[in-house]
Amino acid sequence: MSGKFYFTVDADRDANVPVPGRAAAGSAGGAEPRFSSSVKGAEIILDILDEIGMKAVFFAEGRTAGKGFPGISSHCIGLHGYDHEDFSGMRTGIRFSREEKRSILRAGYEAVSDALGKPVCFRAPYMVYDPEIISMLPEFGIRADSSLYTEGSCGPYRLESGLAEYPVPKSKDSRGKTIAAYLWPMHEGKRGPGDYIRMAAGREFFTLATHTWHMCETCDGKIMDRSYSESNAENLLAVLSGILDSGFRAEVISGSLRTRRAGNGLIRENRSPPS
Ligand SMILES: [Zn+2]
Repeated sequence: MSGKFYFTVDADRDANVPVPGRAAAGSAGGAEPRFSSSVKGAEIILDILDEIGMKAVFFAEGRTAGKGFPGISSHCIGLHGYDHEDFSGMRTGIRFSREEKRSILRAGYEAVSDALGKPVCFRAPYMVYDPEIISMLPEFGIRADSSLYTEGSCGPYRLESGLAEYPVPKSKDSRGKTIAAYLWPMHEGKRGPGDYIRMAAGREFFTLATHTWHMCETCDGKIMDRSYSESNAENLLAVLSGILDSGFRAEVISGSLRTRRAGNGLIRENRSPPS
């Protein structure tokens, strides 16, 4: 049986950082956001996806969506806030009221819909899971989320709010070190493609995540030179093709969870979080 592979890409401002006292995130090195690495990185990722004929999920923030990502529209579109807000307020000191959260979602939804197409799923900036935000998503026709990590099976399951959750896995590598299925360390030169291919091996589902800007800028805001950026692109191609070659089938995120056939032949839906 082939596993299902969800490749998810956050299309957000370059090397995003929370800014204390401000709702909008900045970019490493300053409170003013930059977008050029994000746009350029999206093109690099789109070329790789074209090369291997694979569909991905792009979680776009509203402000970034209008900066020029036409190629993303042929993939699955998700929402990632408007200004990369921290909905917990832990990083910025800004707490949003319920109505403020709703306005942010509306602004993000409208900007992403206008620029790229209607978002069908959601990922919270900084992977900050906020139940109030999740409960509002169906108002926008969004029925799937990917803002949680899991150390168990990362098969999609039904949240209490009724949304389908596609968690990002974490596990231990062969040296016993924690590895998350976010490609940060690979883009920073600290892990290789094999770490993620091994992480996926044997799973029924695998959700992998990265950022557009991380194809050409490091998380402390340094622009990669040509050879760094090229080897970074080769690594991403190696991860994606390695996972597909090991028997996974690329899928996109959908709010309609199919019922799963249990071992006893009964059809059931996975309703509880994986343990
Ligand atoms: Zn983000």
